Amino acid sequence: KGFKDYQLSEEIVKALDSLEYKNPTEVQSKVIPLVLEKTDLVVKSQTGSGKTASYGIPICELVDWQENKPQALILTPTRELAVQVKEDFTNIGRFKRIKAAAVYGKQPFAIQKTELKQKTHVVVGTPGRVLDHIEKGTLDLDQINYLVIDEADEMLNMGFIEQVEAIIKEVPQNRVTMLFSATLPEKVKNLSLNYMKTPIDIEI
Ligand code: AMP
Repeated sequence: KGFKDYQLSEEIVKALDSLEYKNPTEVQSKVIPLVLEKTDLVVKSQTGSGKTASYGIPICELVDWQENKPQALILTPTRELAVQVKEDFTNIGRFKRIKAAAVYGKQPFAIQKTELKQKTHVVVGTPGRVLDHIEKGTLDLDQINYLVIDEADEMLNMGFIEQVEAIIKEVPQNRVTMLFSATLPEKVKNLSLNYMKTPIDIEI
């Protein structure tokens, strides 16, 4: 199957062309159609498999450009990954003019606060700083329809799992939740048991 089988809008197809993504990778061919159907997912896959675009493509497709509040929240364990994921969303959403912001520690809070005041469709961030923005009222979660927990096992290794849990509790329940992880230790599985709606398991 090719990208054309997903009936993506012209703006997204054009972006995939310009990125020279000709065919979906294995994880993309499994994940994209399910996200488009708004199914909760637990995906066991490695980095380098094209996993970012596997959620980036359908989220960019589903986002409503007109909505002024953030609609997707992506949690990553590191600043480097947050910046990379933001860039991927910016590239995939280029022709739809999707605006992504990254929030992470070590960058002044005020800069991010200003950025979050602009129209932002997708927010990518590390757990500590995301919680900071939630607590200070600078990140509005009212309209979050898509929540992605990326590299969940790394979140656990780095001691972020409680923060991730605290964030999940603040996101509206009427949402699609996707969890990506290279391994599935008990505490990661518990996240899916406690906060997801009959997720489909995908293993690459
Ligand atoms: P990731 O696993 O998300 O870190 O992606 C690994 C690399 O694969 C990144 O450099 C992507 O730009 C690239 N990539 C993702 N999807 C595709 C695709 N369908 N075709 C070609 N390259 C891709």
